[in-house]
Amino acid sequence: MTITEPTGFFIDGDWTAPSTPRRIDILDASTGRAVATVPEAAEADVDAAVAAARRAFDDSWWSSWRPEQRAKAIYSLADALDARAGATAQAVSTQNGMPISISSVTESVIPAALLRYYADLAAGQPVEEHRAGFAGGTTIVRREPIGVVAAIVPWNFPQTLTFFKLAPLLAAGCTVVIKPSPETVLDSYVLAEAIAASEIPAGVINIVPGGRDVGAHLVAHPGVDKVAFTGSTAAGRAIGEVCGRLIRPVTLELGGKSASIVLDDADLPSLLEQFFAATLMNNGQTCYLGTRVLAPRSRYSETVDILTDFARSLNVGNALDVTTQIGPLATANQQQRVQNYISRGVADGGRITAGGGTPAGVDSGWFVEPTIFDNVDNSHTIAREEIFGPVLAVIPYTDVDEAVAIANDSDFGLGGTVWTSDQQRGIDVARRVQTGSIGVNNYALDFCSPFGGIKASGLGRELGPEGLAAYQQTKSIFLTDTPVTESKDAEQ
Ligand code: NAD
Repeated sequence: MTITEPTGFFIDGDWTAPSTPRRIDILDASTGRAVATVPEAAEADVDAAVAAARRAFDDSWWSSWRPEQRAKAIYSLADALDARAGATAQAVSTQNGMPISISSVTESVIPAALLRYYADLAAGQPVEEHRAGFAGGTTIVRREPIGVVAAIVPWNFPQTLTFFKLAPLLAAGCTVVIKPSPETVLDSYVLAEAIAASEIPAGVINIVPGGRDVGAHLVAHPGVDKVAFTGSTAAGRAIGEVCGRLIRPVTLELGGKSASIVLDDADLPSLLEQFFAATLMNNGQTCYLGTRVLAPRSRYSETVDILTDFARSLNVGNALDVTTQIGPLATANQQQRVQNYISRGVADGGRITAGGGTPAGVDSGWFVEPTIFDNVDNSHTIAREEIFGPVLAVIPYTDVDEAVAIANDSDFGLGGTVWTSDQQRGIDVARRVQTGSIGVNNYALDFCSPFGGIKASGLGRELGPEGLAAYQQTKSIFLTDTPVTESKDAEQ
């Protein structure tokens, strides 16, 4: 791909020169070749970005605009992103190996859709409501934007996960400093171009790509009012500790090790497309995937055979090829990490029935074959830890009670699925699984419904009206007299 190499950071509506010569080298995950270098932010750049977001929140009109006014500007950003949809998909797939068939319908479509969804949702909400007091009088309850947000995102769905935060926070009237991962930076420059072409005022959105040190500086920055983080549980714990000390609101969307419960009446061969999306999507680099496949003993070997044949049938190749189903992993480190887990799975007694290595004839890029393990116990490392690669562990169970117990025997609680020919039976089992979200015969995030984890998978929710509320705080104004009329039009 052709890249215009950026020379600075998008801060205060303009391109700002970096404070240091630090650079990030961008590699093509499918070939390992260098495609660009970009400036890497340092603490002084974060300070400038927070100062701009702070000014935009405290001094400008954005936060006090009525939601309908903000909606117009937000719609203009959605249009600017639509015009750059192809560039976004290309940038993401080049960097993190996401098959372009996926990035073209997630990374380049979901952001604009989320912007329009949240702009409409906020515009339809009253800024103030009047509540009759319990013992007389009236209270005006106001929804106010929470302030300057630090949004820290990972590399696996860099734009989608940015917009899980950006769309609701903009609609709520917040301003933001976004810190993209060093692994996926180019797409954030496409976003910056779109912001510059939109009606979003200067300083409302600022972008400083960099590593952990930069993220840590941003999280603890005195100019920040809320932290919204998506990433690993280890980093989430560190960020949660800092926010706890500062009494700073924080949303943590973390790792997972979800269960795909195959019931004894499931017709898996007719559901393989949905099963793929729920267990292997984005080369296994998706947080909610049900990578522990729980299969009934009565159909265990049949299930392993179906998955083995399926894994072998998948088209592994360059992420930019539209026919690719499984692309490379995002980085050489990520490839090594997944290979280490595969070795550990064997050492613990698991048996590889498909994959396990790199695809034949591939000598560049960070590929790992889609891999199926049978003979796995839920105590094995590959059943307990998030691998973040195309590796499924098939675990046997005797009855539904045991399947639910195994599903719930996890440090995590993010996603999951139940596979069955009887939807009601699937819902009954889904109700018993300890998780933030779960699907029956599919797993598809719905913008209108909350998404997030329990246990080590996180804190708080994104998406749906709950995702908007995460960027609002209420203020109660107590009155002894009944006030004027109910006001949807109250100034913010
Ligand atoms: P990571 O935690 O290493 O990094 C995520 C982001 O946080 C990066 O931008 C990184 O630079 C930054 N960061 C890391 N440590 C930090 C710290 N101490 N302070 C501030 N910033 C810090 O995760 P990753 O490897 O980039 O992403 C993969 C992980 O993200 C997986 O565990 C995956 O499950 C998780 N994830 C969760 C969700 C969800 O919604 N629950 C979605 C996608 C990915």
